[in-house]
Amino acid sequence: EAKRQGRGIFVKYALSMRDTLEERTLIENDLGRALEKGELSISYQPIVDGVDGHTRCLEALMRWNHPTRGEVSPEIFVPVAEDALLIDKLGAWLLRTACQDAAAWDKSIKLTVNVSALQLSSGVFLPTVIEALAYSGLEPERLVLELTESVVLEMDEEVERLARSLNELGVTFALDDFGRGYSSLNYIEKMQFSMIKIDRDFVQAAAAGSQKSLAVVAAIVSLAESLGIDVTAEGIEGIEQADAMRALGCSCFQGFHFGRPEPLQQAPLAMTA
Ligand code: C2E
Ligand code: MG
Ligand code: MG
Ligand code: MG
Repeated sequence: EAKRQGRGIFVKYALSMRDTLEERTLIENDLGRALEKGELSISYQPIVDGVDGHTRCLEALMRWNHPTRGEVSPEIFVPVAEDALLIDKLGAWLLRTACQDAAAWDKSIKLTVNVSALQLSSGVFLPTVIEALAYSGLEPERLVLELTESVVLEMDEEVERLARSLNELGVTFALDDFGRGYSSLNYIEKMQFSMIKIDRDFVQAAAAGSQKSLAVVAAIVSLAESLGIDVTAEGIEGIEQADAMRALGCSCFQGFHFGRPEPLQQAPLAMTA
């Protein structure tokens, strides 16, 4: 009986593996043509000041409107783009387009762009950034690259040099989804961060009263304070969460309460008067 059950589970598992593979192949084929077919776009989500609520940054988030599947999440298609070696092409398009958009915003508003490990190690990233900045005329100080800890931890010497070159241009980094599960912090002194973004799960758990999450948020805030950089609480969905994070000393907020990711036409905050 136990054996049969085990086999059943195995068959089910094997089937769902095959489904996933087919799904990925389908998505991969379509993603290769998505850019040319105009299916990709960028939504922007504000990161607001904790004191007066004004927009400090807009985060560029890639969107794919598939002709039959509708909106496909970047959490699904970005990993596929990486496997299919499409991420450099899509990333270059996003950087160039977002820098062009940002060049028309009020100069007090920065642009943040998500960058994956593969993009950093591909060898074309630095020229891609330089080209996007030159083409758009965006001041390098207004460009912030969001990296997750896993990206930073995978860095080798070559990527460290790349980070330094970008810092020398004036570009800085934001540490995205911070708190998700790494503990070594030596990368903090190897490159220039201008912001730490506390992962949504911690923010929401802390605001709900979890003592452990409160302790983690407090520790991140004091780390950011000692580094003299901003700390953003991600995933703020209600006023109580904003109040709780303000009380803990977060300097910036991001989340549906302050604004959902929207196409630029619908994010009038971003435009110069
Ligand atoms: P992320 O950079 O941490 O972006 C935040 C995600 O949380 C976004 O999902 C956003 O829509 C969502 N979010 C924002 N506020 C709230 C809130 O209050 N509540 C909840 N429940 N969710 C909120 P999205 O746009 O689906 O992006 C998911 C992830 O995909 C991003 O996480 C980022 O890691 C990645 N991604 C998006 N665009 C790009 C890109 O252009 N390049 C790369 N490499 N990765 C990207
Ligand atoms: Mg991000
Ligand atoms: Mg994040
Ligand atoms: Mg995230």
